[in-house]
Amino acid sequence: MPKIGTQEIAKLLRGYAQRSALRGGNPYRAKAYSRAADSLTALAVPIERLIEEDRLTEIPGVGGAIADIILKLHRTGTHPSLEKLREEVPAGVLELLSLPGLRPEKVLRLYKDLGVTSLAELEEAAKEDRIKKAKGLGSALQTKILQNLAIAKSGEGRRGIVHCHTDASDGTETLETMAKATRKRGFEYFGVADHSKSAHYAGGLSLEEIKEQHQEADRLNKKFGKDFRILKGIESDILADGALDYPDDVLESFDFVVASIHGRFKLDRKAQTERLLRAVANPYTTIIGHMTGRQLQRRPGYEIDVEKVLRSCAKHDVAVEINAHPWRLDLDWRWHQAALEYGCMLSINPDAHSIAELDHMHWGVEMARKGGVPPDRVLNAMPLSDITRYLRQRRRSFARAA
Ligand SMILES: [Zn+2]
Ligand SMILES: [Zn+2]
Repeated sequence: MPKIGTQEIAKLLRGYAQRSALRGGNPYRAKAYSRAADSLTALAVPIERLIEEDRLTEIPGVGGAIADIILKLHRTGTHPSLEKLREEVPAGVLELLSLPGLRPEKVLRLYKDLGVTSLAELEEAAKEDRIKKAKGLGSALQTKILQNLAIAKSGEGRRGIVHCHTDASDGTETLETMAKATRKRGFEYFGVADHSKSAHYAGGLSLEEIKEQHQEADRLNKKFGKDFRILKGIESDILADGALDYPDDVLESFDFVVASIHGRFKLDRKAQTERLLRAVANPYTTIIGHMTGRQLQRRPGYEIDVEKVLRSCAKHDVAVEINAHPWRLDLDWRWHQAALEYGCMLSINPDAHSIAELDHMHWGVEMARKGGVPPDRVLNAMPLSDITRYLRQRRRSFARAA
């Protein structure tokens, strides 16, 4: 029997909430499910433990009825009422709810009357004037949809996704599956960044595996055509002395490098800061991943001089990650203004290890909004043509410097 984990259950509950809201059922029920889903997302202990100890109802927003549903989802991966709702409202339709100004009853009509099941199909329908002509939808709505789609696309972190893992390291899906899921969500590029060779615990990539992944990316890119692209990246461990995890000729083969600390958290503040500064100054570093290493409700970050590192990022044209994983949300939004003042670019990254985690993007976008980060300061808000040009130029300038 499949036993599914906390994040998967949260996702199913969220889908449940959205679908029941779409159908116009009891609005309190929909809210209760989504509240329970939020609590699960932020849960610091494994769900198995709470189940064993019969403590599910201690989770905020989880009463007896929802606890039963969680139990069933955990044990079987599904629930009869969820299956029924799923048949009525396919997954892609839920995407449409993310567009501002599109009310649930319109979403349902777009699906039922026009067969629209994704944002991409919505755009197509609008461009072909099909919404304008449909009864109960009309030309005002069509105009509004086109406007909001344009805004959403130029908005924070909506053009592409970088820093994701595949089953080549510790992710659950293949490169192809992850890239296709990203494309289906309306993004223009997928930046793969699996772990580097020192991260043994996470299946860090050997030189041979890098070569294989790059060949696979080339093969897929040929199929994708010019509207979508896999960017070849790596999440390189920052070694204890601040060096990256591969020799320069290997680093050279990537489109981008996310440099992150994954161990030796206990170095003192000065040494840890020096270590990060050295990684920032490395010409191959494109992005500093989860800069402080904190994990909410699990562990505080390591000790560093954040201001000093931010200033150095600005100087070396290295983007600062806003890691969108709900456990991290790192760099914290309270630092965003400082980062902007120093002149840093930011990058909103889901650090996704599965398809479900691609949707963590929205947490990062919300944090960036809270931090007052404008879209033109977000690396992955760049359209595909701009980011490829930017990454190419960046590499060429080191070649000159070297
Ligand atoms: Zn990491
Ligand atoms: Zn990562």
